[in-house]
Amino acid sequence: MSTYTRLDDCLSIRNGHLFIEECDAVELVRQFGSPLFVFSEDQIRRNTRRFQSAFERGWPDGPVKMLPAAKANWIPAIQRIIAGEGCGCDIYSPGELKVALEAGFDPEFVSVNGVPKDEEHIYRCVEASVRITIDSLEELDVIERATGEMGRTAKVRLRLKPTLSGFIAHSDFVGEGLVPTDLAAMVYKGGLTKDQVIALGRRILPMDWVELVGFHQHHGRHHRSLRYWEEQMKAFARDLGEVCQALGGFQPREIDIGGGFAVPRDPFNAATNYAEPLGFAALHAISRALKPFGDEVRYAVLARLVDTLVSEPNPHPAPSIEEYAEVCTRTLRQELPRHGIQTRGLMLQVEPGRAIHGNAGIHLTTVRNIKPVTSPFRWNIIVVDTTEFWFTGGRYEHHLFHYVFANKADAPLVGKADIVGRSCYGDRLMPIVRVPEVQVGDILALLDTGAYQEVSMSNFNALPRPAAVLVTGDRAHLIRRRETVDEVFRRDIIPPHLQRPAEETVEPALTRIGGG
Ligand SMILES: *Cc1c(COP(=O)(O)O)cnc(C)c1O
Repeated sequence: MSTYTRLDDCLSIRNGHLFIEECDAVELVRQFGSPLFVFSEDQIRRNTRRFQSAFERGWPDGPVKMLPAAKANWIPAIQRIIAGEGCGCDIYSPGELKVALEAGFDPEFVSVNGVPKDEEHIYRCVEASVRITIDSLEELDVIERATGEMGRTAKVRLRLKPTLSGFIAHSDFVGEGLVPTDLAAMVYKGGLTKDQVIALGRRILPMDWVELVGFHQHHGRHHRSLRYWEEQMKAFARDLGEVCQALGGFQPREIDIGGGFAVPRDPFNAATNYAEPLGFAALHAISRALKPFGDEVRYAVLARLVDTLVSEPNPHPAPSIEEYAEVCTRTLRQELPRHGIQTRGLMLQVEPGRAIHGNAGIHLTTVRNIKPVTSPFRWNIIVVDTTEFWFTGGRYEHHLFHYVFANKADAPLVGKADIVGRSCYGDRLMPIVRVPEVQVGDILALLDTGAYQEVSMSNFNALPRPAAVLVTGDRAHLIRRRETVDEVFRRDIIPPHLQRPAEETVEPALTRIGGG
């Protein structure tokens, strides 16, 4: 295995093969095909329980409830696991509301976040008695109307955007560049300013059918450090204190601190690896300077430089769940009373997304072609049967995933290659990484792909999306089957004037190709 990849919990290597729980990854591909998303039920449960017990330990003041963000992995089978653990959930859309209600979550602990919220969605939320986390000035009117018409009470929270003035390190999240975290957090659309929250609170308090039960904040994973969490909690307590004072000493019953805790192996890379652009700038400068000396000299020098390039997944593990919980609860218990908010009986809610699902998932993909370039310099291209369009979550966030070759997991890493995907883009999934002796048919496992990847796949190149499997101990169940080519075209409509007389003959051919 690669020396910098630490396997933990659900992953192990046995006789050279990667295992996820008690299942051989190579066998999973044989059984379910390639590429394949695989999720570990036990890992999701272990992560959830660790969050619950770590926050309970730090928060003796009142109840603690995990509301894992459904958007990180909203596959219905996965959401049933979370519901079965006694958690609530953070949801965003009407589709996620449907998944949550069908999974059996207690509506009291379903937090409906997001902006915009369509009118129909708000009516459904009021009808289902879920918690609406208000994140715009406009939605309150609709909530008030819906509750009045239905004669039902809606319990709501207000989403605050605390000013993170205490944390000005650069944000990982914003990607290219060095944007200070407080500015990056401010321009994110989620959350309302203190003044807006106060104005909304004043309108809600006298309402008959709308009840204000608490407050929410979520800044996301701008930074993995404990300091970031300490400053978030300070800012939340400070701004909350001002809001509650302006609302006549209002005391919340619940506060929700959102998500954004890092995945243990923390696959963040490009955004934090500022050496890389400098390296490429140097390459470019040298390349230009050598141009007058002719191709032979230029390529000879460049070949040397290219040989030195290598990218490695982040070797520094993130703080543990227990460390995150400790710093959050300690800071809140210190800061809330200082700002006039009593913690006794106050329910603390937490919405981890990536930290619950990330390391519970792997993606298995098969090597299909090997294309060595020998001149003008050496360059290895390994083509696999997946694509970056099935990791758009990771692309947005500049991930370089940790990886293991599942069928030769303890083979030494003897070479370097660009591992590229199957789309017609450059599709450099894993640019210039260390690899063992690789053959066509080898199976590559990309780790920490349990959050945001499967649920953000697209159909670029009209590629049908791969299947997903849930592993439970030594059993594996298909939880989302492979898409067919027919399904890729299911929403398409040919206007009458573009139809061809022989149209019917095209369809059976497509059906045959898409059979898998
Ligand atoms: C996305 C999101 C989360 C989860 O974020 P992670 O970074 O995956 O932990 C939690 N709460 C809200 C409101 C979100 O939008």
